[in-house]
Amino acid sequence: MNETAGPAPDLLRHTRAALLEEAARRATAYLEGLETRQVSPMSADEAPLSALEEPLTDEQVPPDAVLRILDEVCSPATMAMAGPRFFGFVVGGSLPVTVAANWLAAAWDQNAAFSSVTPGAAVLERAALRWLIELLGLPQGCGAGFVTGATMANFTALAAARHTQLQRAGWNVEAEGLFGAPPLTVVVGEEAHSTLFKALGLLGLGRKRVVRVPVDGQGRMRAEKLPRLSGPTVVCAQAGNVNTGAFDPIREIIGKAHAAGAWVHVDGAFGLWAAAAPGRRHLAEGIAEADSWATDAHKWLNVPYDCGLAFVRDPEALRAAMAITADYLPPAGTQRNPSDYTPELSRRARGVEVWAALKSLGRNGVAELVERTCRHAARFAEGLRAAGFEVLNDVDLNQVLVSFGSAEKTGKVIAGIQADGTCWCGGTVWQGTTAMRISVSSWATTAPDVERSLEAIIRIARA
Ligand SMILES: *Cc1c(COP(=O)(O)O)cnc(C)c1O
Repeated sequence: MNETAGPAPDLLRHTRAALLEEAARRATAYLEGLETRQVSPMSADEAPLSALEEPLTDEQVPPDAVLRILDEVCSPATMAMAGPRFFGFVVGGSLPVTVAANWLAAAWDQNAAFSSVTPGAAVLERAALRWLIELLGLPQGCGAGFVTGATMANFTALAAARHTQLQRAGWNVEAEGLFGAPPLTVVVGEEAHSTLFKALGLLGLGRKRVVRVPVDGQGRMRAEKLPRLSGPTVVCAQAGNVNTGAFDPIREIIGKAHAAGAWVHVDGAFGLWAAAAPGRRHLAEGIAEADSWATDAHKWLNVPYDCGLAFVRDPEALRAAMAITADYLPPAGTQRNPSDYTPELSRRARGVEVWAALKSLGRNGVAELVERTCRHAARFAEGLRAAGFEVLNDVDLNQVLVSFGSAEKTGKVIAGIQADGTCWCGGTVWQGTTAMRISVSSWATTAPDVERSLEAIIRIARA
């Protein structure tokens, strides 16, 4: 090999097995280390990152040296989101079976756009979708697609909503766009997730051009405050507020919206999973009557990023909004073509990890995961109240909001907890009150993890 040539394919093949084994060894050591290391990286761990900001070199670096840089420089500078005591955002870990499935799927390197070209991936996705529809109590036969997360799931489902509502008004929005289209009213709750507004903006429906419905102290839309609805309309309800975990009164909202011919979309990024647990199912009561749903698998199902799901009652509405055709692409034939139901054409087969999680957990395992994390959240709330701190929300799901006093005091406690490293919690402002969020979403969190974290939180808050 001369100096300018790349490593020959046969050399790369020759070293491949050793490289992949080394990656598995390093990844396993990383995951096992999460039990004992502090949750947020220390600043000393971040310092070596500056070496990565180097110019691209002309020379080649052998693959094993590249892997070593990743592990030695970057692993210590990660947040232990995969570990048992990360309670920020709404972040699950990845079930070990889903990490393993992800590695295998990466080796397959399937472009999951077409069922005729990648039959294995297509069947896994189809099976996973069928299981999910059953597990989440959604209507049989609804259309669905794997997307990157709930942001894109909201976008995808709302594109189907836009299609149908404007088609009924005699307008083909895919062909003609929105210039000159009949107006489409969008109704949202005051506490809708920020990404829902982003999805509306991407769809040309406007982040601000919405009717906002007032909410109660838990962030639930007050159904009696819904405006009189007429003409093309989409009502966006929420299952699981990102701060409180509260659900909009879906049944009432759907009753009023459907009476006026409106479409009801539900953002259930994590809350939709309540339907999979018999003890929490009542929270999602009536949800199956909606027209579309967005959820995440990378939150409560604990699969690797990125994985969200859009479901639409009328599969043809989703197809109309998403399908493409081109002469060089294989015809759909009789099989469901994944790319007919998502914004992407080429994409990874992200249904593989969902299939692996569901196959491994079964119906009982999913229910147990949801129940267990909700129980951990209830224990956090109980422990914090007993220590004299104010829990701001009804802890019916996996979210806990706690105030330690003034905004300044609460902010200091959050910073103290993050620096201490026993666990990690983020902050928020809930209806004017600064609060700390505890979101229990990981398979890895055990009861001792909760007690250890409670002890640290209370110790820091009292200091
Ligand atoms: C997390 C969340 C989203 C956004 O999900 P991503 O997967 O980050 O795109 C949307 N809505 C709600 C209610 C959420 O909790």
